[in-house]
Amino acid sequence: MQKGNIGVTTENIFPVIKKFLYSDHEIFIREIVSNAVDATQKLKTLAGKGDFKGELGELKVNVSIDKEAGTITVSDRGIGMTAEEIDKYINQIAFSGANDFLDKYKDDANAIIGHFGLGFYSAFMVSKRVDIITKSYQEGAVAQKWSCDGSPEFTLEETDKADRGTDIVMHIDDDCKDFLEKDKMQGLLSKYCHFLPIPVAFGKKTEWKDGKQVDTEEDNIINDVEPLWTKKPADLKDEDYKEFYRKLYPMSDEPLFWIHLNVDYPFNLTGILYFPKIKSNLDLQRNKIQLYCNQVFVTDNVEGIVPEFLMLLHGVIDSPDIPLNVSRSYLQSDQNVKKISGYITKKVSDRLQSIFKTDRPDFEKKWDDIKIFIHYGMLSQDDFYDKAKAYALLKDVDGKYYTLEEYETLVKENQTNKEGQLVYLYAQDPESQYTYIQAAKDKGYNVLLMDGQLDTPLISMLERKLSPSGEQKGGCTFTRVDADVIDRLIQKEDTKREVLEAERGDRLSEVFRSQMPRTDKLEFHVETQALGEDALPVMLTQSEYMRRMKEMARIQPGMSFYGEMPDMMTLVLNTDAPLIKQVLEDSEAQTLEEIKPIEAEIKGLTARQSVMRQELDKKKYDEQTQEEKDEMKKVGDDIQAQRDKKNEILSAYGKQSERVHQLIDLALLQNGMLRGEALTKFVKRSVGFIK
Ligand code: ADP
Repeated sequence: MQKGNIGVTTENIFPVIKKFLYSDHEIFIREIVSNAVDATQKLKTLAGKGDFKGELGELKVNVSIDKEAGTITVSDRGIGMTAEEIDKYINQIAFSGANDFLDKYKDDANAIIGHFGLGFYSAFMVSKRVDIITKSYQEGAVAQKWSCDGSPEFTLEETDKADRGTDIVMHIDDDCKDFLEKDKMQGLLSKYCHFLPIPVAFGKKTEWKDGKQVDTEEDNIINDVEPLWTKKPADLKDEDYKEFYRKLYPMSDEPLFWIHLNVDYPFNLTGILYFPKIKSNLDLQRNKIQLYCNQVFVTDNVEGIVPEFLMLLHGVIDSPDIPLNVSRSYLQSDQNVKKISGYITKKVSDRLQSIFKTDRPDFEKKWDDIKIFIHYGMLSQDDFYDKAKAYALLKDVDGKYYTLEEYETLVKENQTNKEGQLVYLYAQDPESQYTYIQAAKDKGYNVLLMDGQLDTPLISMLERKLSPSGEQKGGCTFTRVDADVIDRLIQKEDTKREVLEAERGDRLSEVFRSQMPRTDKLEFHVETQALGEDALPVMLTQSEYMRRMKEMARIQPGMSFYGEMPDMMTLVLNTDAPLIKQVLEDSEAQTLEEIKPIEAEIKGLTARQSVMRQELDKKKYDEQTQEEKDEMKKVGDDIQAQRDKKNEILSAYGKQSERVHQLIDLALLQNGMLRGEALTKFVKRSVGFIK
């Protein structure tokens, strides 16, 4: 028997392996099983070249658990190892056997070698001892048993083994006993070994017999040796892709479409990416793209490899050219990885373009489901925007779809304002914005539906991209239908209508303002407008700018200032409407007598205030006497007091006026903002009106 030390410089490398090398102890099974698969593949290659003339027989890898002995054994019928090879490949830790093999079989070996660094030694993460019982395929080879208990010392001796190949026997640590559970192992094998290219058997298939589960004769093969992505697209039908998708994500809806990736230059990559139908955010988190290296599962974290906006896709990517044991930041700077990411982006874009071109109705049907990917891509990657702008669609409130170019042509004539700017009108909620949409349609305008999660930033981006830089004129602007009254939504030429004198307008506004609901989250302004006799008497509008700032604040950090501001809405009173005229006249009849003297008083005080200010401004600050300052302050206070008095009178009028309340409630109701007690009051009041 031979004894020796494993050729590592560090005194004891195993604790390091155990603790730090792999965060996930469970991957030992992937390493050991894929080594067994590699050894089997190598034998097949040798046989193919005529270097192995023996009987290949059934080539499969066996995984078994012996609970009593506390062992997990992985057996293969691959090339096995001679004593020299054990010394070279196992004892000389840093020495990778793959390199040797590569040298000899440069041409096609690449395809069958997975590179996982310290693969074999990961067995020590879960084992107190590991035995290798192996017999080389070479004629006259003597079987060897290597054994190591986790210290750098090992033993190597000759042993008996009938068949060629290798058994790796792992004596599982006491604190890792759960790996000896059948269910747990079954789960791990299907996670890591699901698509290995050589059959992997784990026990026997079971069946129900006489009320209990019993083993059958048939092997329980846990893998699919020829996964779909390794096949030629031309040989596959839609149903094959759908079935494979179900295998990957059993609980999900059918995918919308898929892209079969296949490159061999300048890097090697195959895979299938699916555009999923997203039902909820949960799906997004649960189902992820899986990354493989020669059919060995590596990770489902593809960050850095797949462009961010495509990480929401599903499917598999298999590439031996993605460096695996490196940090994510290194990965992102790797040239190959950059090329891969660019290739995937291009492939996805080409596929979208081709569906758009060949089957536009189908593309439109899928648009609502895929737009989140496309918008995300357009927002995050300029090169994707440049491609996607040709097929990205806008949808109007009637469900019609347009490309950006088509839409511009559609609205150019009718929706260009006097500044020469194209105004794109949109709604976010067709139900609550119904009246505004209707008003816009009556004017012959088209209204877009922008209710997607990314529509707010998308709108800002389109405004930027579609507007020629540095020019005042031209370009486009997006405006929500309720951002202003219809005449001002798209300002053509200045309309001349009779406007109410300022004083009367102010009084009327105060009557309404004093009766508006008060909350912390919402502030109301009131203004008067001459909108024509046929227009509604009252309307609520919400400034595009403020609203959008707030929407951006919700999705962008660093803008919380806007996020905390209350919503601001404007109640527009149409002074041409008969009902508003009535309120105006009636309120004046009721209050003017009382108000006139107050207004006269305010006028006088204001005049005095401005004279005093002029006087005061002539002097330097330290020349101003305390008396003057006090008097100035008093005038200000007096004006405020008179104003308050006036407002109280107007408010008292508003309070008792059913007409005012009814009008306010109607405006709120139109925006779905009338609720609770206010709604009940409105209903009662309305009932009273029905006579
Ligand atoms: P890698 O697989 O990256 O080369 P490992 O530490 O997993 O690194 O394995 C080292 C070497 O040991 C392999 O390259 C191979 O030559 C040999 N080896 C490991 N497992 C087996 C096996 N089941 N059959 C034959 N050789 C094996």
